[in-house]
Amino acid sequence: MPENYKILLNDYVKFYQQLDKEGKEKFEERVRLFLASVQITGANAIVEDIDRVFIAAGAIIPVYAFSDWQYVNLHEVLVYPGTFNEDFDQDGLNRSISGMVGTGAMQNVMIISKWQLRQGFINNSDKRNTAIHEFAHLIDKMDGTMDGIPEIILERQYIPRWVNIMNTTIQQMKNYGSDIDMYGATNQAEFFAVISEYFFERPDLLKSSHPELYEMLREIFKAGTQ
Ligand SMILES: [Zn+2]
Repeated sequence: MPENYKILLNDYVKFYQQLDKEGKEKFEERVRLFLASVQITGANAIVEDIDRVFIAAGAIIPVYAFSDWQYVNLHEVLVYPGTFNEDFDQDGLNRSISGMVGTGAMQNVMIISKWQLRQGFINNSDKRNTAIHEFAHLIDKMDGTMDGIPEIILERQYIPRWVNIMNTTIQQMKNYGSDIDMYGATNQAEFFAVISEYFFERPDLLKSSHPELYEMLREIFKAGTQ
């Protein structure tokens, strides 16, 4: 791994900073393997080392506990300069999407906005990280359905409890508002992606404000180091 990748991880990636020496080496190896297996392409955007490192970090953080993990459903990440709309136009009127996991002809492709990707790591306390959001969708999608239930990593016995807490929290958000990003109340898939951002960016805050959700997410991601 290039030396400057380690410097970038050390400077910007909180999850990496908190690992011990052995853990850091493991993380670096996972980043290296990810970047060797997935193509990262700029679409009217110049992809720099910092973008490659951030995309790989967003991929590895949620599955760090699963040492043999591979994103078999991802071949390419397209990096757009800014936000885009549902037709992948970069300069239409409705330009609000900062990341997307492809379907149909775009199967196995992720699109991410370079600006949002960087903000996700540079601002590491606002409970938002677009890369982690999109990789949570990919993990969720791996069992065949993007429904907020990541059956590939969540043991069957916990599924009813997880569905229950998702539905209850979404209903509470709709009724009373929340410190959880309201986009998470869109549906179960978005809830899982949004709460994953929160969990990996502000585990301390999630633990104090939503202890039951926090415990379930620890179970889902087997996150012993959080
Ligand atoms: Zn989403």
